[in-house]
Amino acid sequence: MDQAKKTIALVAHDGKKADMVAFVKDHIEDLRKANIIATGTTGSYVRQTGLEVELKLSGPMGGDAQIAALAAEGKVDGIIFFRDPLGKHAHEPDIQMLMRISDLYNVPLATNPATGSLIIQGLF
Ligand code: PGA
Repeated sequence: MDQAKKTIALVAHDGKKADMVAFVKDHIEDLRKANIIATGTTGSYVRQTGLEVELKLSGPMGGDAQIAALAAEGKVDGIIFFRDPLGKHAHEPDIQMLMRISDLYNVPLATNPATGSLIIQGLF
C-alpha cells in the first residue's frame, strides 16, 4: 500500500453489492487516488469496474475483523459499509465490532451511498 495515499475500505452485504458497484462507478476518479481494500466478495465485484482493490477475507470468514484491526491501527481513513438492513448475518458480532472500532478510533464510516458520498467529498 502507498503510505502517501488515503486508504478506503469497502464492505457490502449481498443485498447491497450492486449498490456498491454503482457507488464505486460514481466515484471512480476519487477512488483511484486511494488505496482500496475490501472484503473478499465485495472486492471481487468492485474489481470489475477496473479499480485496483486489495482483497481481504470474505466478511463471514473474518474480512470485517481484518478491516477493523487495520482501522484500530490507524491505517484506514474511511469505511464504506453498505449493510443490508433486511438481512440476517452469521457474522453479526464482526459487523458490530467494525462499527464499534470506527467509533472508538473516530474513523468515518458510511452505511449508505448518501453518507458515502460525503466521506469521499471530505477526503478528496
Ligand atoms: P463479502 O463480505 O464482501 O466477502 O461478501 C461482506 C460481509 O458480508 O461482511
